[in-house]
Formats: sequence, C-alpha cells, structure tokens
Amino acid sequence: MWQGSSRREAPARAGAAALAALIVLAGCGTLSIPQERKLGEDANRQIRQQVKLLRDRVVHDYVANVGAELVVAAGPQPFEYEFYVVEDDQINAFALPAGFIYVHTETILKARNVSELAGVVGHEVGHVARRHIAQNYKRQRNTGILHQVAVISAGVAGGSAAAGAVNLLGGVAGVAYLNTFGREAEADADAFAVEVLPRAGYDPRGLVSFFDTLAREGGAGGPSFLSSHPAPKDRIQATSARIAAAHLPPNLEVSDGGRLEIIQQRIRLLVGESGSGSKR
Ligand SMILES: [Zn+2]
Repeated sequence: MWQGSSRREAPARAGAAALAALIVLAGCGTLSIPQERKLGEDANRQIRQQVKLLRDRVVHDYVANVGAELVVAAGPQPFEYEFYVVEDDQINAFALPAGFIYVHTETILKARNVSELAGVVGHEVGHVARRHIAQNYKRQRNTGILHQVAVISAGVAGGSAAAGAVNLLGGVAGVAYLNTFGREAEADADAFAVEVLPRAGYDPRGLVSFFDTLAREGGAGGPSFLSSHPAPKDRIQATSARIAAAHLPPNLEVSDGGRLEIIQQRIRLLVGESGSGSKR
C-alpha cells in the first residue's frame, strides 16, 4: 500500500496563512504540541479517506481498549489518542502525529495472544509519547527534503507547511515519509513498550514473540512497525535484554481468556478468507 498510493492534487491556492505557518516552522527547531496536533488532524483526515477502515464496533473497541489501557499506564500525555483498525492483509501498524494509531487487521490476526497485540500497539504509542514524529520532522527538515516539499506545497496547498507536505506527497505516502523512524527511535519505542506493558498488566515478552512472527512472515515494505531499521533479530536481542533487566511483576496477562480469538474469528468473517490469506 505504501508504494501504490495515488498522488492527490492539492488545490492551487496560496495564502498568507501558509506562508506564516512556514515561517513559524522554519523558525523553531521542532514541532510544537499545537503544530503536531494540527498536522495529525490533517493527516488523519486524509488517511481515513485512503485506507479501508474496518468499520466494526466490536473489533474497534477491542483494539481501542488495549490502546487506552496502555495510554493510561504511560501517564499524562499531551495528546488524546485514537485507535483505528485498517482492513489490510499486511502485518503493519503506524502512528500519525498527535496520537492517531492505525492497526492492520493482519496484525490482529497474526497475534498469538493479546500481549503480542499490546506490544505492537505499545510500540506505536511510544512513537507518539516520546515525540519521535516531531523529532523526525526536525531531522527530515534539516536534510532539506521535507523542507523543500513543504515550501512547494505550502505555496500551492495552503494550510500548514507540514500538512501541505502530507497533502502533496499523497496522504499515505506523506505520512509514511514522516513515519520513517531511525534505529534510535525504533529502539526507544520498543523500550517504551517494555516499560508500559507491565504497568497495564500485559507481559512485555509479547513484543518479543511478535518479532518472531515478523521475522518468520516477512511482510510489507515501507515505513512501518515491521520494516524499521533494526532487523527483527536485533530487536529481539535488545528487547529481550531489556526485559531480563526489568523486574516484572507476577501474573502478567499473556492471553485474555479467548477474547482475542473471538475478535480474530470476527475479522475473518467480516473480511472474508482473503483477510487471512496467503502472504506474498
Ligand atoms: Zn516503530
């Protein structure tokens, strides 16, 4: 899906607001909380039109509930999180700026227990909570690439420069661009998940066992939970070491008494067999 997104034409209207936004962005090192929120809301509006959301309340609520537990466990946050389920047969999950988190149905189907799903969701929450997207924006702006795109798109699209970049690149590709994290950010998001999962009652070893699935299944190209710089093998070692060093409380939840399996069965019924079909 990352390669194939259609390029959406931006409306050709320049505006003083765009120029002002660009000056603001150029003048500071990173995205402020309000800027990231605006960028996230714009990106979220576009992404929702470009992915196929699984519009099923039961499945949505299940994922959103796991996400909400992790957010609560993470402590006070500058953003309100929203969770969405995308009907897609690639194992993937991604975070938009300001806490809009998307989980593919294939990720839910491939999770062997709820702690694995919590590991993936926790990792994505980590990118938002640790402000990786803002840092990423800064890093990529410094390379000049995003900055150039932002300059061009701010001229034609109006709105904030960064949102213009998302728009110009085509929503999904633009978000993918902002969502390409470096090795450090990926390790940091993994560390965040290891720290927060136990506080929400989930066993962080789920993250490690899901890495096994990633290594076994291969999967989507493009920026994602899956294709981040550290190879799954490296991430398994680093995350295992981190878990071994942590003092885990007893009785952490690995499975949730068959609830995940019911959700998986529901997804299969909703999307048909293709949803759980063969990997390419
Ligand atoms: Zn990541």
